[in-house]
Amino acid sequence: MGSHTRFVPTPRTLMGPGPSDVHPRVLAAMAQPTIGHLDPNFITLMDDIKALLRDAFQTSNALTLPVSAPGSAAMEAAFANLLEPGDKVIVCINGVFGMRMAENVKRMGGELVTVEDNWGQQVDPEKLRAALAANPDAKIVAFVHAETSTGVCSDAQALCAIAKEAGCLTIVDSVTGLGGVELRVDDWQIDVCYSGSQKCLSCPPGISLITYSEAAADRVKARNTPVQSWFLDLSLLMAYWEGEGARTYHHTAPVNALYGLHEALLMLHEEGLEHSWQRHRDMHELLVAGLEDLGLTMAVDARFRLPQLNVVQAPTGVDEGAVRKQLLADFNLEIGAGLGVYAGKFWRIGLMGYAARRENVTLCVNALSHCLPG
Ligand SMILES: *Cc1c(COP(=O)(O)O)cnc(C)c1O
Repeated sequence: MGSHTRFVPTPRTLMGPGPSDVHPRVLAAMAQPTIGHLDPNFITLMDDIKALLRDAFQTSNALTLPVSAPGSAAMEAAFANLLEPGDKVIVCINGVFGMRMAENVKRMGGELVTVEDNWGQQVDPEKLRAALAANPDAKIVAFVHAETSTGVCSDAQALCAIAKEAGCLTIVDSVTGLGGVELRVDDWQIDVCYSGSQKCLSCPPGISLITYSEAAADRVKARNTPVQSWFLDLSLLMAYWEGEGARTYHHTAPVNALYGLHEALLMLHEEGLEHSWQRHRDMHELLVAGLEDLGLTMAVDARFRLPQLNVVQAPTGVDEGAVRKQLLADFNLEIGAGLGVYAGKFWRIGLMGYAARRENVTLCVNALSHCLPG
């Protein structure tokens, strides 16, 4: 028998691509006693979560709900519900998460058309327009609003407008966007938008959020084939998340995780969406000024940088992995490594949610200056 002891994590400051620092109010909410997931008390909480979610997504969509699994599951839910085998789907790819969208389409038997842009660039609306002209039978356009692998924010409004002109439904990944950067689901004509708990909402990872427009719901109702995923099937889930006084068991909801989500959404509501967007911009500008003072270079054009995810070039001759190790060991500070083609060359510094604070910016700039040569 080995000797087992309690696990006590070393406190860290989380300034990577997620999870981000969790607000103490969210942790406290999650430590409350667990109640039944069909308890009338809990149903009240579920209704309030849906209302707060609509506010966060800027939508009046009735079908707005959490998914009991991380952001990747919300991505699958979006494609699984809208797509039927043989449907043509245009996926715009400018980083890792667009590639994952394309993978979902392939695995679900969709006919995949890709529109590709270089890493570090926005999705090009003109390329999407050309792809739609060449594929008039396309049914869905999907892209990532806030590409966490590259720190690029694409023009979701422009892309959805083009997709809508061509009669397509739109699927938009705003896992990193929600709460940190402007996002208006209804005004921008997004049919399915999903996000995650652990980025700019400052919740622990493990749940995600999704909203479906009426047109998207109609598409689900008109399916000829059942949704291939039982767990993510919207029509079954709604029996639990909706239905006055008659909610039925689908799966056991993660009760305490939803306490946390509620508290996080409440905090966003108290701060105000626009204030939250502004705070992320302000902290981003402070961070960029500090990094440039250290002689570091930002990887993304200032016009379309995500304030909550800052991609910084590691100076030539510096071992970026060694620097991250030292930041963690000496400062309890976590920043992110480069992903995909950015591996080994860039750092990804997150300013997400509760992490987008002045003291974090100061800590990060000071710690980096200590760990960099010269
Ligand atoms: C983090 C992230 C995801 C996946 O979320 P998980 O919670 O890790 O499954 C999807 N898309 C984007 C853009 C992300 O940043």
